[in-house]
Order: sequence, then structure tokens, then C-alpha cells
Amino acid sequence: MVEIRKDYFTDLLCIVSDEGVEWSSGQEDVNGGVCLYCAGNEHLTPPAELVLLQSQGTLVKAYDSEDERVKNWSIRVIPSKKPFVSLSSSQRYSDAPLYSEPAFGYHYEVVVTPDHSETLSTIGVDQWSNVLRVIQDRMKWLYGKKGVTYVSVYSEHKRGHTRFNMVTLPRLPPIIEQEATIFQKTYHETAICPMCNVVSIETGGPRQIILSEHYIVFSPWAPSTLYEFWIFPRRHQTSFLKVGQKELNDLALVMRAALGAFDKTFNSTPYTLVLHSSSEKKVSKQLHWHFEVYTNVLLGNSLHVGTGLYFNPVPPEQAASRLGSAARRELAALVGVA
Ligand SMILES: [Zn+2]
Ligand SMILES: [Zn+2]
Ligand SMILES: [Zn+2]
Repeated sequence: MVEIRKDYFTDLLCIVSDEGVEWSSGQEDVNGGVCLYCAGNEHLTPPAELVLLQSQGTLVKAYDSEDERVKNWSIRVIPSKKPFVSLSSSQRYSDAPLYSEPAFGYHYEVVVTPDHSETLSTIGVDQWSNVLRVIQDRMKWLYGKKGVTYVSVYSEHKRGHTRFNMVTLPRLPPIIEQEATIFQKTYHETAICPMCNVVSIETGGPRQIILSEHYIVFSPWAPSTLYEFWIFPRRHQTSFLKVGQKELNDLALVMRAALGAFDKTFNSTPYTLVLHSSSEKKVSKQLHWHFEVYTNVLLGNSLHVGTGLYFNPVPPEQAASRLGSAARRELAALVGVA
């Protein structure tokens, strides 16, 4: 049984699963001391449905077969061994107050490097660019499938071998629903995108971390975690799938610089990187796509659990000034090397 259940009173949703997923902290990819995702251990995972590898100086796509795995890869996309959603989810629905619906979906993992010690804060800008392209490619492919309303994309730093998770959902998740509703309402009333408005307010302001030709990185006004930061395209764009190659390279540089700076400044503090992008399903409400980076340092957690309110002792203006100088140094080093 894997199903999406809704709280008695609020819009809070929970995927409830009895499929025996064993939870452990941090080391879930290590099997008897062997990492499933490292180069050389390809046979420990299901066959990769997409592999990127260097061949005669260019990147080529390949695929594993049941009994043969592609070696010398640079990025692999594999079905998750511990999926949050299921293709064989039951078709059971039930009504409020015990509301439930099938948690039908696909769960893939994008292994961003063959090297266990590399992270999103250390891989090269070219590799970052390739990772973003692979994510775009897989999102397009997943949105073409039945029962996929939203493709959720995120990565957890310091939770074993670096990878992105791609989990499809049969409905818009609550945060996307909220952001898209605000977008739709504001746009309808004022003909202005609220996210473009935020970009214009934060550009050159006290919370800006770095600015590139196409992107702005800034600390949000009301950050829920310490040193949280967001990355927005400066120009209005609804979907991450619309980002062209030139912009993608700029995004790769900005992401690498910001995450590299973060990692150095805060000594490898764990963080979670999430993508918020419009659903590609025609009926869905749109939003201005962006990435958000949450550090896994949540203070006043009990206050939050009990009230929904966060506590943050570092004003975003202070966080931005600290991260900003580190990110500018990182950017200079990256561009200098390139
Ligand atoms: Zn590994
Ligand atoms: Zn916009
Ligand atoms: Zn968002």
C-alpha cells in the first residue's frame, strides 16, 4: 500500500507507505560498506535508463541492459531502489475526513558524478551544466507519461553519494499549488508576475548574493532556515524546460558558485536544493520557476511543529552579505579557471 492521505482539517498531504522502506540517517545508499552509486558498483543498482559518457571528446547517451552495465559514465539515471511512489499503487480512493488517493508515480535518481567525494559544491561547471540538461531531458520524458501531474526535483547534500531525486506526483504538491495560486491571482489583478516583482525588488538590494546575466541569487525576506537562499531567472520564465543552452551554462556557473561558497563558509553544512517549476500539464496553473536552497539547520523546530512559525536568529541581510563575498570569490575563481 502506497497512498496519498490528506489531513482531517488542513491541506497537509502525506504519502503513507507500508512497502518496508528502512530508514537510516545519511548512509542509506551504503550496502555493507559498499556505495551503490560509485563507479564500479553499477551492477548493484537497477539498469540505468540513461547514461551520459565521454566518447572521443563528446558526450554521448547510452543505456544499460539487464545484464550489462555501461562503464566510465559521467552521469547515470536509475530507478530508485526505495521509491516514494509506486507504479503498482492500488486504485483505492476514499473521502474526507479519511481522504486518500493512489500515490501513483515514478521515482528516479540522477547520479551526478561517479566519484563519491564530489558534491554539487565541488563538481565542475561543465558537469553542472550536463546535470541540468539531463534533468531537463528526464522531466520532459516524465511529463509525457500518464498519471504525471508534477515532477518534483531535489537533491540532499551530505546524504551519501551526490544525486538528484525525481519523484512524479499525480497532483500538484501543496507548495507549488500555493505559489501558482498567488501567481495567478496577482497576475489576474495587476498584470504583474509577483515573482518578477520580487526579482526587481531584490536586485541590487541588501539580500542579493550574486547577480549574473540571467540569474539572481538572494536570501529571501523571511527565511525558514539559516542561510537559506533562492535562485531565480531574472527574466519571466514559467518552466525550467524552457531554459536554453546558453542560459543553462550561466545557471550552472551561478549554482556552482553559490553552493561552493556556501559549503566553504559553513563547513559542509547539509542542505537541500529543490526546483519549483510549472507543471507541463496544460490545465495547470503556472509560476515563475526557481530553485530554493534550504540548509538543514532548523532552529526553534518545536515552535514550528506546534505552530507553523519558524524562528531565525540570522537576518537575511547579514546572511547575504557573508555569502555574497564568498560567492563572488568563488565565481572569480571558477571563471578564472575556465
Ligand atoms: Zn558512492
Ligand atoms: Zn515572472
Ligand atoms: Zn518556490
